[in-house]
Amino acid sequence: MSKTLLLLHGDGIGPEVITQVERVIDVLRVSYGFKLNVESALFGGASINACGVPISDETIARAKSADAVLMGAVGGPKWANAPRDKRPEMGLLNLRKEMVVFANLRPAICFDALADASSLKRELVAGLDIMFVRELCGGVYFGQPRGIDVLPDGSKRGYDTQVYTTGEIERVAHVAFELARKRKNRVASLEKSNVMESGLLWRQVVTQIHQDYYSDVALEHVLADNAAMQIARAPKQFDVLLTDNLFGDVLSDLAAAITGSIGLLPSAALGEKGKPGLYEPIHGSAPDIAGKGLANPLAAILSFEMALRNSLEREDLADLLYTAVIAALNKGARTKDLGGTLNTSQMGDAVIAEL
Ligand code: NAD
Repeated sequence: MSKTLLLLHGDGIGPEVITQVERVIDVLRVSYGFKLNVESALFGGASINACGVPISDETIARAKSADAVLMGAVGGPKWANAPRDKRPEMGLLNLRKEMVVFANLRPAICFDALADASSLKRELVAGLDIMFVRELCGGVYFGQPRGIDVLPDGSKRGYDTQVYTTGEIERVAHVAFELARKRKNRVASLEKSNVMESGLLWRQVVTQIHQDYYSDVALEHVLADNAAMQIARAPKQFDVLLTDNLFGDVLSDLAAAITGSIGLLPSAALGEKGKPGLYEPIHGSAPDIAGKGLANPLAAILSFEMALRNSLEREDLADLLYTAVIAALNKGARTKDLGGTLNTSQMGDAVIAEL
């Protein structure tokens, strides 16, 4: 039976980059007999314009019953001052929560052809291939209580709660260890167990999961501040980096920044086995370049590559697509963000030519 992919084009450059993915899918269909049921739905500002909400209940239901969801990006100046529940970004948080995608996979790969575009020296980043597994549904972004109180003297007190349960740590740790087995078999678990109770529990639970199920995988515990220094100093020492929502947010951006352009970086958010994954480029809707043909579509194309690998059970096609992207870059295909002159659709052409 063919699998179903739900496309959420979104706003700004979202539709421009997802169009290139649709072209890639057409080529895989025609040249490789790939069978895929592709659907689409409104999302973000486009959905607010059409039906008043950033994501409808019907779209959420369709996302939950698809095999994978691939989104472009949402947001833009038009909705920046809207009430919180009418903002495109709320649709995304709602979708992640409803799909219970608790493991955010963010690869940071430095393609050899682009090693000179990094802020680090070529020898430090050439060949870099590390993978963040960031917990996405818990921690300080969701913990209660949170708020801003007014104190008797009129000053204020703002607070958030960093909280993790055993189950929340276990389920994301399983994802990281299983992924490591398909890579270089190494996991670095990052927390602040020296000063935080939730960090201490994180270390204890990861240690136990490792002992019970994954003793064949090499595990090291690294304090998150030291990890930041190591990523900036010698990132290639890592393979899979497992961490919580907050540290993962910050450290994966650091790792992404050293690989070159934001237009290259894909991500996957996964839940329980057998449940659909949510795939998206890490960039936003880039209103400054929307409609100008300047968007690099590779982050979206590589997000689809992750969907082929993790949800659509076509690792063979994922390998093919990945190889095509590298070949296009090796032959000098560059959009403006990479110092080149190709427009969005010409970058799509370059990948398709290699396919
Ligand atoms: P952004 O990622 O949209 O843009 C940051 C910079 O990177 C801009 O200069 C942009 O031109 C450039 N850029 C981004 N993607 C690119 C690509 N594919 N090719 C070439 N250049 C690219 O971040 P922002 O400007 O902070 O946010 C714009 C809007 O996007 C906001 O409304 C924000 O809330 C939203 N946003 C959405 C998501 C999402 O949908 N997942 C993520 C981040 C930001």
